[in-house]
Amino acid sequence: MPTRQCPHCGKEVFDQMTQCPHCREALPAIPQIRVNGTRKAEGRGKIRQGLLCVLLAGVVHYFAGGYSLMQLPFPIQPIVTVYLSPLLLLSGLGLSFFGFYLQRTA
Ligand SMILES: [Zn+2]
Repeated sequence: MPTRQCPHCGKEVFDQMTQCPHCREALPAIPQIRVNGTRKAEGRGKIRQGLLCVLLAGVVHYFAGGYSLMQLPFPIQPIVTVYLSPLLLLSGLGLSFFGFYLQRTA
């Protein structure tokens, strides 16, 4: 059973109680988070994460594919540019579209 701290005496009490069993003070209600706002914020966060994945995929593909003039001190396996960076790009796009969908249906 989840507990929370009493704001008056500081002892742990069950979060469903309305009165503290230690100091007998009335406990305030737990603030409820509005569902409508969180879905929109969750969608915004997913869009941001997805676009970050797309950017990361571009950077990885640029450096692992040998497009930059900088010489990397270690060899990179071709599986990175053939499968992994396109997979990261598509996953990021999917996450962005999911976030957009969450935002539109909120
Ligand atoms: Zn108390």
